[in-house]
Amino acid sequence: MYNRIVIKIGTSTLTHKTGLCNIKKMENIVKVIADIKNSGKEVVVVTSGAVGIGAGKLKCLNLHRKNKSLKQACASVGQRILINLYSSLFSKYGYEVAQLLLNYNVLDSFEDEFNAKNIFDELFKRDIIPIVNANDTVFVKQLECKDNDSLSAAVSLMVEAKLLIILSDIDGIYDKNPNENVDAKLIKNIDFLDDYLKEAEFSKPNSFGTGGISTKLKAAKIVSSKKIPLVILNGEYPERIYDVFNGVINGTLIKLK
Ligand code: ADP
Repeated sequence: MYNRIVIKIGTSTLTHKTGLCNIKKMENIVKVIADIKNSGKEVVVVTSGAVGIGAGKLKCLNLHRKNKSLKQACASVGQRILINLYSSLFSKYGYEVAQLLLNYNVLDSFEDEFNAKNIFDELFKRDIIPIVNANDTVFVKQLECKDNDSLSAAVSLMVEAKLLIILSDIDGIYDKNPNENVDAKLIKNIDFLDDYLKEAEFSKPNSFGTGGISTKLKAAKIVSSKKIPLVILNGEYPERIYDVFNGVINGTLIKLK
């Protein structure tokens, strides 16, 4: 059913609090993705983490949000570390990876979209796993809003994916902010945005400049234009991806009408 899927992996899943790579979590995720590939599915990985990992390496974890050039320097170092790690982890299972640094606006230009689409097609034909990230060293605006959720949605449209999975640091979307409300309940299915979710959609990004749930809801809106479902799962338990293929969602399924 889901023969082509996009999997987006968030920064908090890929890193420790020190900013350095969480190798165990990455290994677990890579293992599941390689297994999914072995079962005959096409997978695109959209990865975050370059700025965080670079900041860990350059020992500037508390970098100021407005220090763009330092953030870009972190992204350039972090991206290199990330792709090396993906490459060596996937090679354990016999897979080659390709690095694609894209701009979220890739869908705005027909020519850019056409070119990028052709690259994905060539990679699919050759069974190479595309690893996509925002081109943070060039696109400063994107770095400011740090919205790889929307990028993963744009990529899903471009490759005509059947499913978008976002691996986050939380089980899914709750009916209230779970950090502030102990009684917050996980929402299993979302097919429309109620008042809380409408408000959340426009809420400010959290402190490290990452999306929170607002960008996930925006991503859901983008993919809903092509009726692509979005599933949010906890990146700590990548085996839950198998459950999705068996029709069991241990997270939040968003299919907006
Ligand atoms: P990632 O980069 O892993 O996708 P984000 O920081 O972008 O993670 O988004 C997930 C975070 O959003 C959660 O860890 C949580 O702190 C915050 N959050 C705020 N409100 C909610 C909510 N209603 N449901 C789920 N998470 C929420």
